[in-house]
Amino acid sequence: MNVDAVLLVETVNFAAEKHQNQRRKDPEQTPYINHPIGVARILSHEGGITDIVVLQAALLHDTLEDTDTKPEELETKFGPTVTRIVQEVTDDKSLPKQDRKRLQVEHAPHCSHQAKLVKLADKLYNLRDLNRCTPIGWTAERVQQYFVWACDVVKGLKGTNSVLEGKLEELFRQRCLK
Ligand code: NDP
Ligand code: ZN
Repeated sequence: MNVDAVLLVETVNFAAEKHQNQRRKDPEQTPYINHPIGVARILSHEGGITDIVVLQAALLHDTLEDTDTKPEELETKFGPTVTRIVQEVTDDKSLPKQDRKRLQVEHAPHCSHQAKLVKLADKLYNLRDLNRCTPIGWTAERVQQYFVWACDVVKGLKGTNSVLEGKLEELFRQRCLK
């Protein structure tokens, strides 16, 4: 039996159940689970990442922030390393939004290598999504502001994965941020 394959199926099923009633902000209101699956796929397919705990953390990366999932639940099901990576990429939702955004920029350089990989893939997915179509209610200025902020976060993730960083840099260049 391929244990990693079984673990990944268990992980994607857990994430799908947790995000089952959520939708993305695009006009088509894409099922939310497409995002964590896409982030894991960017890591495996584009970034060449095969580290199972990084792929699991990518699949679970928004469960603590956006669902009722508790760290203890992740710890029991997926172990301490996956849980720690997910916690590293989780914003403190008790803080005002502007503080959370500022803290992402400040904390990025101090994250573990594994958490930095998930952060790079998450930003790449979200920026591609914004280029694909504007979320409901967003102006072009708000989209550009998101690119400006993401560029600041990604500056703190330098030296993590050259392929993903190269693709992000190209997106920032297209927005005149490089
Ligand atoms: P939000 O944090 O509100 O939204 C972006 C987040 O939504 C992403 O990080 C992503 O998070 C998730 N998401 C869901 N669907 C999509 C999608 N289709 N495309 C991209 N992301 C999606 O954005 P901000 O508040 O940061 O707004 C962007 C900028 O605009 C800010 O820098 C702010 O200064 C400015 N602004 C903000 C306003 C506001 O009301 N907040 C109003 C005007 C301007 P995840 O990966 O976790 O799913
Ligand atoms: Zn995300």
